[in-house]
Amino acid sequence: MASLYYFSAWTDSGCLLGCFHEHSTVISAAACSPCAGSYVIAVENGVLRQLTDKEEADFQFAMYGAEAIKKARHAIVAMHPTKWLLN
Ligand SMILES: [Zn+2]
Repeated sequence: MASLYYFSAWTDSGCLLGCFHEHSTVISAAACSPCAGSYVIAVENGVLRQLTDKEEADFQFAMYGAEAIKKARHAIVAMHPTKWLLN
């Protein structure tokens, strides 16, 4: 059975530091962030890994709220190559 937990992480003087907790959710780990610039790292089966897209969305929501996510989504503009060819 896979084990998965998250911890809040930050750097200080070139060292990676963490909160030493085993949070069961990204949001819980994000709430444990002690300073600006903190991030959340996943530990799956004892191996550190980056957050998945879904976990990253949870982190962004926890840190910046729904409005920030909405603004980021609207900042992405889809390209339609055929539109450029017709003009
Ligand atoms: Zn913690």
